Amino acid sequence: MAKKEFQAESKRLLDMMIHSIYTQKEIFLRELISNASDAIDKLYYKALTDETLVFNKEDYYIKLTADKASRTLTLTDTGIGMTQEELEANLGTIAKSGSLAFKSENEAKEGHNIIGQFGVGFYAAFMVADVVTVISRAHGSGQAYKWESEGADGYTIVPAEKETTGTEIILKIKENTEDDRYDEFLEEYRLRAIVKKYSDFIRYPIKMDIKKQRAKEGAENEFEEYTEEETVNSMVPIWRKNKNELTAEDYENFYAEKRYGYDKPLKHVHISADGAVVYNAILFIPENTPFDYYTKEYEKGLELYSNGVLIMDKCPDLLPDYFSFVKGMVDSEDLSLNISREMLQHDRQLSLIAKNIKNKIKSQLQSLLKDEREKYETFYQAFGRQLKFGVYSDYGANKELLQNLLLFYSSKEKKLVTLDEYVSRMPEDQKYIYYAAGESIERIDKLPQIELVSDKGYEILYLTDDIDEFAVKVIQKYQDKEFKSVSSGDLGIESEGDKDKPEEEESAAKDLFEDMQKLLDGKVKKVKASKRLKTHPVCLSTEGELTIEMEKILKAMPN
Ligand code: ADP
Ligand code: MG
Repeated sequence: MAKKEFQAESKRLLDMMIHSIYTQKEIFLRELISNASDAIDKLYYKALTDETLVFNKEDYYIKLTADKASRTLTLTDTGIGMTQEELEANLGTIAKSGSLAFKSENEAKEGHNIIGQFGVGFYAAFMVADVVTVISRAHGSGQAYKWESEGADGYTIVPAEKETTGTEIILKIKENTEDDRYDEFLEEYRLRAIVKKYSDFIRYPIKMDIKKQRAKEGAENEFEEYTEEETVNSMVPIWRKNKNELTAEDYENFYAEKRYGYDKPLKHVHISADGAVVYNAILFIPENTPFDYYTKEYEKGLELYSNGVLIMDKCPDLLPDYFSFVKGMVDSEDLSLNISREMLQHDRQLSLIAKNIKNKIKSQLQSLLKDEREKYETFYQAFGRQLKFGVYSDYGANKELLQNLLLFYSSKEKKLVTLDEYVSRMPEDQKYIYYAAGESIERIDKLPQIELVSDKGYEILYLTDDIDEFAVKVIQKYQDKEFKSVSSGDLGIESEGDKDKPEEEESAAKDLFEDMQKLLDGKVKKVKASKRLKTHPVCLSTEGELTIEMEKILKAMPN
């Protein structure tokens, strides 16, 4: 029978996988178990809307069987199964293109969660197996099919025998090599530990035949071996557990298992609310900016569960745009399982939860800023820009909420500071919060306008991100102190310069200025004497609301 080739992309990915970008081979099991659990979920979900289908929870399980003699590890599930076409489509191709491009761009990074991130988890099986066989019978179909592959050179699909609906995956575990050991994936205690570590909260029983010993009947000091089927996982979802029983590692594992990101979470929040609306939630602030974060492709949202059953992958209504970096899930008993996307938007419970969550995130960020400054700055590097967009968008409706989360580089401190910190350091005679905009700190340092304000002993905020100045314009005032660009006309500084009477200089040098103006015709509006220069001979300044930097950005924007 003819062997089919994997699609080109899948082939390259497989290659990569086999030559192991993973450092932890053990996670293949997590991937296969989560697929099995998804497959049972699909049946469960179907049963909710299909009256002819009865779902007895007891009938649904995942089973792991290791056989050392044949070096096989078999994973059986009683889920929805796959048709011939589905085997072909799901296991023969990798749907999400772009994953490889990303991988090669990020070659240097630790790769161990990349596979999960792109939903190619199944292929992880090839990290530990020479041959992968999938025998599956789809729900509602009488015929089963067998998919088999030895890795990169292709796969076959043939009809097969299978009594019941569901899927059986047989891994022919690799032989040990000098560098890599595979035997452990046939060891009961090891498999059990891996299940506990990554899949403890899976909602269906993960069963294993556990070898045990017991005293032999009628004989003293003699023992016999027997096997007993045990459920290895606790089945309690992590979000229903008590916070005190959970470790940081548990949350990290959950983050990885859920494929929220390929990094580690910077911070997690576990909410168990039982006020006006009852829900559990686990939220994460990632450490790194996802590669597509500042693009249109990025989709914000939290997973939404109704009483333990996933009803939506990415519910956007749970997060405001300015917190779109937050990952995680919400489970509520107060939501209907069959609620449609449209209905969700108007659901009162859901908007209560969303509001609640928004405040939680805000207070978490606040406490990160207060108590773990370094972590906050890592966060700010990754997502600060989004907060500034938040201030600027919606006509400043969110500025109260977000403004004290902002950081700007300070001329005095030579590091990022908050507006609070700036204002608390202001000398009594200082009227304004001064800022200077430019491409980089080095460039701003060289601005002629900086000198006068600095010499007064005033701190200046350096705005180097193009959104900064827009945000500042929206904020207008912080603790009653107005923002003022060092390039604006009136700096509000009573300087020595005043006594030099620029008006006099102006008339004295009238001809010179007029000549300069002619030379620069169309490029500047006016040439005049400045009160704001010390060691520099000239500077550019603007009149009105827009600064030079803002004009540049507005000009660069597509219309
Ligand atoms: P993902 O789970 O992210 O979709 P995978 O590579 O893990 O990606 O799996 C690919 C697809 O193969 C799944 O989406 C699912 O449709 C199908 N699949 C994998 N394992 C099973 C299984 N045990 N039962 C039914 N379908 C499965
Ligand atoms: Mg999967």
